[in-house]
Amino acid sequence: MNTQTTANSAQTSAPTQHHPARTQLFWLLAAVVVALGLPYVSNDYWVSIGTRAAIYWVLISGLNLVVGFAGQLAIGYVALLTIGAYTTSVLTAGKVFDPLSVWLALPIASVMGAIFGVIVGLPALRLRTFYFAMTTLGFATIVTQIALAWQSVTGGGIGIPGPEMPAPFDDNLGFYYLCLAFAAVCTWLTANIARSRFGSGLIAVRDAEVAAEACGISKSRLLIPVFILAGALAAFSGGLFAGLQTYVTPDAFTFELSLLFFISILIGGRGSIYGPMIGTIILVILPEIAAPLAAWSTFLYAFLLLVIVLAMPGGIAVLLDFNNRRPLAKHRTVAPQTSLLAALNAHHSSQKVLGLQNIVLTFGSVRAIDGISLDVKPGKIHGLIGPNGSGKTTTLNVISGYYSPSEGHLTLGQDPLPPGLPHLRAGRGIARTFQTPRIVGEISVLENVMIGGATAGKANFLQALLALPEDRRERQALKTKALALLQVVGLGSLADIRTDRLQHSELRFIEIARALMISPDFLMLDEPAAGLSSDEINKLGALIKAISACGTGVLLVEHHVDLIFEICDDVTVLNLGKILAAGTPDEIRAHKEVVNAYLGG
Ligand code: ADP
Ligand code: MG
Repeated sequence: MNTQTTANSAQTSAPTQHHPARTQLFWLLAAVVVALGLPYVSNDYWVSIGTRAAIYWVLISGLNLVVGFAGQLAIGYVALLTIGAYTTSVLTAGKVFDPLSVWLALPIASVMGAIFGVIVGLPALRLRTFYFAMTTLGFATIVTQIALAWQSVTGGGIGIPGPEMPAPFDDNLGFYYLCLAFAAVCTWLTANIARSRFGSGLIAVRDAEVAAEACGISKSRLLIPVFILAGALAAFSGGLFAGLQTYVTPDAFTFELSLLFFISILIGGRGSIYGPMIGTIILVILPEIAAPLAAWSTFLYAFLLLVIVLAMPGGIAVLLDFNNRRPLAKHRTVAPQTSLLAALNAHHSSQKVLGLQNIVLTFGSVRAIDGISLDVKPGKIHGLIGPNGSGKTTTLNVISGYYSPSEGHLTLGQDPLPPGLPHLRAGRGIARTFQTPRIVGEISVLENVMIGGATAGKANFLQALLALPEDRRERQALKTKALALLQVVGLGSLADIRTDRLQHSELRFIEIARALMISPDFLMLDEPAAGLSSDEINKLGALIKAISACGTGVLLVEHHVDLIFEICDDVTVLNLGKILAAGTPDEIRAHKEVVNAYLGG
């Protein structure tokens, strides 16, 4: 149907002419010029403020991955700053061992921070939102109390001298440039993670956790390296912070400081690197230019936070996002280019069948599915229909591993498919979409699709952190495939647009593109036609047929029976969790009970 035009429109529908990368580069250069030039246009006082901002940013850049990207409410990060400050000072002062050089003490402090970063972070894997926030706060209190009580090492309330920096970093100016250099390195490192599959994985866990799992992203495996990095940077920042003080005492590590870190990220905007950096600068400078208000700083922060939440929920990052200011075309149509699919999905030689045998799943006393058996065959479309509440979505959830069946078993070819473990399904070639699209609104369409390729990643966290060639190659490949799949589902021209600006029907096509990123052996679609116009449903039908023609077995849950009867090879009808009928579309159409119970006759 829409096969001839493909080559041309693939060219013409290139994304916007705007270059977000260039805007970012401009801001980056501006920041570098201002930072380097600061000492020449101001005095020592402002240089020390600049130093403070740079030191805080070392911590905040790492915390940003935890809070802004992964969405974890870690509000007690001052604890890790404290640990870093004391470790560095104790080691350089020779309180425990012979005095160490700062250059050794700082890395040791970072290792301590990494360890405690994981300890503080672990509860996040089990606890949600406020409960996790409370544990981080509790930890901060404990650390301060220990610093106070452990007099022989920390000097208690009197404190210990901060580390002395060796020349040429022993004066204000030298120390400023040193901290600036560290801040720049941290920006680079965390921006590398943000750009990598780990960064988009974090955002996926934050905003669409269930979908992230279906794409093969394991929350714990993703969060632990992030906690290590954030902890290490926080403690490193603590070491520098100690260098800024002549004396390190527990009362330097206040709750306000923790708030400052957290709010910098919130006013900067979630999921951005430059927003929180600007947020940090603003929050460090603000109390200075409003000197009479210094005593009110907590109040000021709280007020700022309120203003941001109410007036500018996306934070500074949204203000800088010029790309998403321009209006979108009103009457857009999706125009899938199904012929492009074969080239992308060519490798399907698998003859495995996805089988369900006598699956039973109960919720309390409700038998949501009650002895269902069916086969999804490669290259075929299997329709699953039935009234609301008949167990269709639950069946998909069992296959996806969200629910473990009470009876019966799943097979993939000759092998059993173990129940549970949803994040391992993508690795086995099983992809899906959701009845309500689970999409991350705050990132671009392209980035959403790229999340689907999480399992293809071979480059590890360290390679991503340092933007090593393997990581860059992989990212480029992921991007190319995601762009091509967007062309396939007909959304290529919207690749750079923030996803929450799209209409509902477009989200359904994005989900399909995301599912196709693993070139699935099996694709499960949960009511993909819901909310689509009849024209869009026709295009969807053609797309699904093209997907199965590449060898993918499709399990299609749908209420639009016309679509089911038109494209399916097999149909199973459910009612009250049981199979009412199964057969070819013609057999089902003629089935008396189905007509009476469901189709209406
Ligand atoms: P369908 O997708 O066919 O409309 P579902 O599979 O969503 O139906 O639901 C099947 C039955 O299981 C319904 O009676 C529903 O209320 C019940 N059910 C589904 N999920 C849950 C759950 N998490 N807890 C309890 N009952 C559930
Ligand atoms: Mg359902």
